[in-house]
Amino acid sequence: MFIEPRVGTSRELPRRGWIEVVVGSMFSGKTEELIRRLNRAKIARQRVEIFKPALDTRYHAEDVVSHNANSIRSTPIAFPQEMLLPASSCDVVGIDEAQFFDNSLVEVCNQLADHGVRVIVAGLDMDYLGQPFGPMPQLMAVAEYVTKVHAVCVRCGDIATYSFRKAASAEQVLLGETDSYEARCRHCFLEGQQEKSEADAVAEATKH
Ligand code: ADP
Ligand code: MG
Repeated sequence: MFIEPRVGTSRELPRRGWIEVVVGSMFSGKTEELIRRLNRAKIARQRVEIFKPALDTRYHAEDVVSHNANSIRSTPIAFPQEMLLPASSCDVVGIDEAQFFDNSLVEVCNQLADHGVRVIVAGLDMDYLGQPFGPMPQLMAVAEYVTKVHAVCVRCGDIATYSFRKAASAEQVLLGETDSYEARCRHCFLEGQQEKSEADAVAEATKH
């Protein structure tokens, strides 16, 4: 479990900022962990703001909601720069589904941390093909703390690090839930990709 460093919490000390990143596959508990850290900051009477990409409206237009229905009020934004003004008066800023933002998120998070804000970023480290997702690799590089959380493979019960897409779309962004994606370990992910390409080959052959 992540324990908050004991710096910059007293109002008398100059504020010290830093970046925390929470990554993993879908269903790995990223949002739960983000909400847990933000709630602890609220208990410490710190000023907290939470942001999420405006395109992610799967559960709620404004709240950040985890798969086990924990939720916290957030502000949907289209561009990372929109955080700068409201976040400048905060102690802690939380960002969920960060993979959907472009690389300008890295600069914005750095600016906030440079100015004394504790920035907690949660997002998918890999897309449905197992490729690094959006600004997450750069964020992991510049962060002081990186936590990788794991889901459970729905096929074999091992530790899952991949978000396997069951639907046949080739878009990088396909918002969906248990009907479109499942958490899988490396072995079961590779098997699934293999089954998909065999099914595609059969479909192609039967077309002709
Ligand atoms: P994330 O933000 O990483 O997608 P959430 O924090 O929203 O994950 O949800 C985590 C919760 O999802 C778990 O506590 C558990 O209740 C539920 N869950 C559903 N499927 C799985 C799975 N395959 N492995 C682990 N947790 C799962
Ligand atoms: Mg989440």
